Amino acid sequence: MAAKKMKKQADVDRRWSWMVSAVLAAFLMTVAPLAVVLGWRNVGAPAVWIDTAVAGLRQGSNGLSFLDRRTTRYDRLLGGLLNDGFDFESCHSRYQSAMYRRNAGRRPSSYLISKLRRHEALQRRCGPGTAVYSNALEQLKFGKSVALPECRYIVSISYRGLGNRILAAASAFLYAVLTDRVLLIDPSNEMGQLFCEPFPNTTWLLPPGFPLTDYTNFSIDTAESYGNMLKNKVIGTTAAADVSPAQVPAFAYVHLDHDASIHDKCFYWDEDQGLLRHIQWLVMRTDQYIVPGLFLAHAFQEELDLLFPEPDTVFHHLGRYLFHPNNHVWGLVTRYYDAYLAAAQHRVGIQVRVFGAQPNSPELLEQITTCTQKEKLLPEVLTSGEPILSAPSVKTKALLVTSLKSWYYENIKSMYWEHATATGEAVSVHQPSHEEFQRFGAKSHDTKAWAEIYLLSLTDALVTTAWSTFGYVAQGLGGLRPWVMYKPANDTQVPDPPCGRDVSMEPCFLKAPGYDSRLNRWVDITKIVPHVQRCGDAGWGVKLVGRNE
Ligand code: GDP
Repeated sequence: MAAKKMKKQADVDRRWSWMVSAVLAAFLMTVAPLAVVLGWRNVGAPAVWIDTAVAGLRQGSNGLSFLDRRTTRYDRLLGGLLNDGFDFESCHSRYQSAMYRRNAGRRPSSYLISKLRRHEALQRRCGPGTAVYSNALEQLKFGKSVALPECRYIVSISYRGLGNRILAAASAFLYAVLTDRVLLIDPSNEMGQLFCEPFPNTTWLLPPGFPLTDYTNFSIDTAESYGNMLKNKVIGTTAAADVSPAQVPAFAYVHLDHDASIHDKCFYWDEDQGLLRHIQWLVMRTDQYIVPGLFLAHAFQEELDLLFPEPDTVFHHLGRYLFHPNNHVWGLVTRYYDAYLAAAQHRVGIQVRVFGAQPNSPELLEQITTCTQKEKLLPEVLTSGEPILSAPSVKTKALLVTSLKSWYYENIKSMYWEHATATGEAVSVHQPSHEEFQRFGAKSHDTKAWAEIYLLSLTDALVTTAWSTFGYVAQGLGGLRPWVMYKPANDTQVPDPPCGRDVSMEPCFLKAPGYDSRLNRWVDITKIVPHVQRCGDAGWGVKLVGRNE
């Protein structure tokens, strides 16, 4: 079987190599005689000239062409971030994504790599299908807490839009890694149908039959939430070090949603982590990227520093490690990329986050064009006449627009068709879908959203809409520090400036904890945690930034 697969791969490689040779040969046969007719003197040293011309054929100004992507060696394991042990056929994107990325991204630390391999082993040893897992389920079913459980678990509830769900899963995963818990993802809302398995030879999806049957309805009011149990003194009356199994429940629900209370947010502090460590099962709900909050507990800080010597790369690495489009979504991504984006020398992505009921906004359109032109991401257009060019125009830019509406795309496309650009660059404009309304539980809707997030992450420069997790995921996966379009004070205004360069590619934690209930005082997380700043798009939120920011 393996030999057959290798032969198939070798055939594919041979076909590509033959095609490249044929194209280059045809090119040289056409160009070389022409050079002789024109005289080498006019064109400089022949070898250099041919090298340059060939490079020009094969390469855009700053990246790899379609042919190069199939023939150049690329780092398919992303610097060791990915495990080499998966079957390629089960998930094409896992090992092919590097081929589509011009921006290779940041390198993971060797500490992170070894921690991931150890965590994969934990997921296998304790995950669904093992005797340990069955025992742990039994204990949960009978509400029994165990003194020193062999394995501990965290179930991440999946709800809200795809960006929220991805950030929630990434946050729960980092918490699982820091606390040696097995991560299990609630498969509802298509979470079981969009991604490949990130852990080899096991599953990250919570299997059917979970004893807490109504866990997806857990909310701020759930009596078993950590916050409510603290408030009602069900737990927390004994110091963490002295806690016995009888004093902790078999499970706790951790409510870290946007509406989390001060008691819920005690989760982030050291003493509470000491208590939570004794609870075998946690169920977590968040629609937030809680990662900056995890830096609050001293117990995690040293580990986090070792895992992420570059603090602005947490989601970049975790996202690239965890979220691989399944083969269906990868087909959407690669067909679209190859058809509309691959040939351009420069790709710009614009995420226009609008809501179904929102009317089309000329102000937002102006914000998009002013931002992209002022920041020199796209050329200005001439209102009359044609550009004066010293050489034939060869530069091409592809603009990828994602939005629920098509109106912004239509207008930008017409603008670049009906007017010449001041630089002579040709701009092609593309939008994969316009779904009009956000839908929940619709597979084809979610596959498009996931494909579009991924396509945005493959661009060379990205413009996002403030407060949107859809854009946060794209920027993190792409390793792109985006230009963020600020929220206007009201709908009839174009913000000035229309956008600004974000300080890092990390997602913003929009509802960060601000109250230390043990000390009974408000605190500013940016003053406590190094490398955390206020978000440019949401002054009340915080985000991780690089060490030199
Ligand atoms: P957020 O609400 O902006 O933080 O982003 P989310 O991804 O969490 O939720 C928005 C949801 O609306 C997406 O997951 C999609 O279902 C849908 N949506 C919003 N914008 C787009 C878009 O540009 N393209 C597609 N296909 N869907 C979108």
